[in-house]
Amino acid sequence: MGDYGKKIQALLVGKERMLIGGDWAQARSRRAFPTHDPATEEKLCEAALAGDEDVESAVQAAAGAFAGWRKLDPFERGQKVSALARALREHAEDFALLDAIDSGNPVTAMKGDVLMAAAIMDYFAGLAGELKGQILPGKEGMLHTVFQEPFGVVARIVPFNHPIFFAACKIAAPLVAGNTLILKPAEQTPLSALEMGKYIREIFPPGVINIVTGDGPLTGAALVKHPKIKRIALTGGVDTGRAVMKLSAEGGIKQITLELGGKNPMIVFPDVELDKAVESAVVGMNFHWCQGQSCGSTSRLFLHKKIHDEFLRRLIERAGRIKIGQPLDPETEMGCLASQDQYEKTLRYIDVGKKDGAKLAAGGGRPEGATFAKGYFVKPTIFDGVDMSMRIAREEIFGPVLSVFSWEDYDAVVEQANQVDYGLTASIWSRDLQLAYRTAERIEAGYIWINGSSRHFLGVPFGGFKQSGIGREESVEELLSYVQTKAVNAAL
Ligand code: NAD
Repeated sequence: MGDYGKKIQALLVGKERMLIGGDWAQARSRRAFPTHDPATEEKLCEAALAGDEDVESAVQAAAGAFAGWRKLDPFERGQKVSALARALREHAEDFALLDAIDSGNPVTAMKGDVLMAAAIMDYFAGLAGELKGQILPGKEGMLHTVFQEPFGVVARIVPFNHPIFFAACKIAAPLVAGNTLILKPAEQTPLSALEMGKYIREIFPPGVINIVTGDGPLTGAALVKHPKIKRIALTGGVDTGRAVMKLSAEGGIKQITLELGGKNPMIVFPDVELDKAVESAVVGMNFHWCQGQSCGSTSRLFLHKKIHDEFLRRLIERAGRIKIGQPLDPETEMGCLASQDQYEKTLRYIDVGKKDGAKLAAGGGRPEGATFAKGYFVKPTIFDGVDMSMRIAREEIFGPVLSVFSWEDYDAVVEQANQVDYGLTASIWSRDLQLAYRTAERIEAGYIWINGSSRHFLGVPFGGFKQSGIGREESVEELLSYVQTKAVNAAL
């Protein structure tokens, strides 16, 4: 932990407790689970393993706080969300340090995540005025009015790849809409969400935001099955999405939105400025920032045959310049994978790629040197000569592994781009905008970049087609997904 040792030790204090009804609480069963630093493989501390009875307490607390919270002026709710965003900015370094040691993402990138989350929270706070109703024309003597009302208690379940980013920005819309909520961070990375609990306690009435920690099968399942939770939002894998749909039905009929995985194509036409497109392929793959562990990563790169060789040469050179290092080093651009599972899964896929006949063009394992003797580090890995029969072409690896294809036939490349079960993002590179737009029209994905990759834009709806999910976020659609419509028809 180097220079940060003392600070980090102080930040780890109390992380075995959850935030329920404004109080810090251990699991009733006293069960706990360890959280590790993936760069050292050492245990950091324990977090509470919430069971049914803890989830019940959290639901009761959230339900109890609902009446008071929904009564507030929506802008007042927004102000509290913005106050939390301010606290995040003020303590950005603390959150970034916790995420770096808990997830393996670079500390500098994690500071960026905190600032991005805060910007999204402010955006939703400012959207409070969009929670408006309607008056509709009717027969003489009739008045038809339509209101938008919160659901009550919302469950927000988030993944490990951007811990504080998701924990913070995903609670803004449901809160502004007037719901109270229960947040469940990923079991690999519970620390920064719990740290946020300190500021939640200062800013929000007790019970408005509750944080429960634990795994999916126990804690997550208890949440989604709970009959009082009518609205669930998951960011996670496709299998988890299916489990959430199934389990939630045991507790009743619920509104569910799902932000799930991706196996996203980047199609490069031969007319592009090579260096810009190469940079975009590297950024799109999210080698730095989160070691490829991003749903939006453009992990299938389709290069036109005319530019394939030169593009690949520059790509390998550029990827080789990414500074891999310890997550706590401010100079580090690429840290390590978040867990042993992620590491082993990535290495397994690298083996599968080789066995299926793809050509390993770069990376393929752990970086050399004493710095990397421990920890779940994997070099940026590039496979060339990939075709759609291979597993690395179709399955989400969620690690730093990029599959490169060569193409000549336009219709065939569009077909290949669509030939996966996922449909989250896509990137199209060409100077011919008409061609690029026509291609975008044919791509089955919810979020497409033309001459870009990776970046999200506030207010532009993000979400997936096909198995990549249900619903749209980061936009007014997200806010409105947290209200239900009530029509009141009055005979005057
Ligand atoms: P995961 O699905 O394993 O876990 C996500 C969350 O769901 C965790 O908090 C986990 O505890 C919980 N969970 C697991 N099983 C559950 C169950 N049965 N009931 C309720 N909750 C359960 O995902 P992960 O490994 O943490 O993250 C990686 C996945 O997330 C990838 O597939 C990635 O593409 C996806 N993801 C999608 C987006 C997006 O915006 N579309 C963003 C980030 C990550």
